[in-house]
Amino acid sequence: MNESAPLLEARDLARHYAVSRGFFKHKGLVRALDGVSFSLREGKTLAVVGESGCGKSTLARQVTMIERPTSGSLLLDGNDVAHADVAARKKLRPRVQMVFQNPYASLNPRKTVGTLLEEPLAINGTQPRRARRDAGLAMLAKVGLRPEHYRRYPHMFSGGQRQRIAVARALMLDPRLVVADEPVSALDVSIQAQVLNLLMDLQQEMGIAYLFISHNLQVVRHIANDVLVMYLGRAVEYAPKDDVFARPAHPYTRALLASTPSLAAGRRRTRITLTGDLPSPLDPPSGCAFHKRCPHAVARCAIEVPLLSTFRGIRVACHRVAELNP
Ligand code: SF4
Repeated sequence: MNESAPLLEARDLARHYAVSRGFFKHKGLVRALDGVSFSLREGKTLAVVGESGCGKSTLARQVTMIERPTSGSLLLDGNDVAHADVAARKKLRPRVQMVFQNPYASLNPRKTVGTLLEEPLAINGTQPRRARRDAGLAMLAKVGLRPEHYRRYPHMFSGGQRQRIAVARALMLDPRLVVADEPVSALDVSIQAQVLNLLMDLQQEMGIAYLFISHNLQVVRHIANDVLVMYLGRAVEYAPKDDVFARPAHPYTRALLASTPSLAAGRRRTRITLTGDLPSPLDPPSGCAFHKRCPHAVARCAIEVPLLSTFRGIRVACHRVAELNP
């Protein structure tokens, strides 16, 4: 998957949280992220998929440097942000920006669009006011909005327009990487494609990489180059998008695809229905964390954790991957 040096590379990245179980009880440990490795090249999109609670948002917090990982390394342009000191992280932070799910909550309603766009430049840079305004207006045009929108407030826009403003704000510092956390899931279906196309156009124009977090496989199919499927803090399948959609190798990936009707239609492989809830991360199942929901589980699955290994050029964590993919 990697012909050139990656822009972002995670190696065995883990984030654990100590949580209280109540009075007189020992603290529990939630392994929200438990040894995840991947890489992302400049100008490409890696989609991270899985049910809520699988570790997607925890991963986003490590990549955006909101938190420090418990262990492992996270290389951004060759700099290990996981172990960098406070000053180095501060310097690297503008290179990674985030677009949130809800454009209604992520934009301060008391500030005009112009102020929202100029703010990152004012905080991080030394540009004079005039230059900030020019840059803001240019970015507004890039995301398909008009100059007269500059003086308006967020509540005067539709959901799709607000997400365009949120994207524009995220791009003001010319980041190398944007972490997009379910960026279209709060929008009408008719608007989703417009915002996705905008993200793809901007990627081509500016060479940005996206770490695209989503539970919507239709959306992922539209935008991703590679896909990382996560289950309870671990990667279970990591492959180019075309492989994931044409030949999903892990039973959990198949179940996710089967639960998206339009993607499941016509699929010849055995259909797996995803039953039961995601187990509690405070008390995950032994062995393969998916074994209680997996129709292919055998005794070994409850005992031994399957490692992410190479199978026909992709990475899969399943003891029975060869048998299930003859
Ligand atoms: Fe299913 Fe076993 Fe593979 Fe886990 S290791 S996905 S339980 S077959």
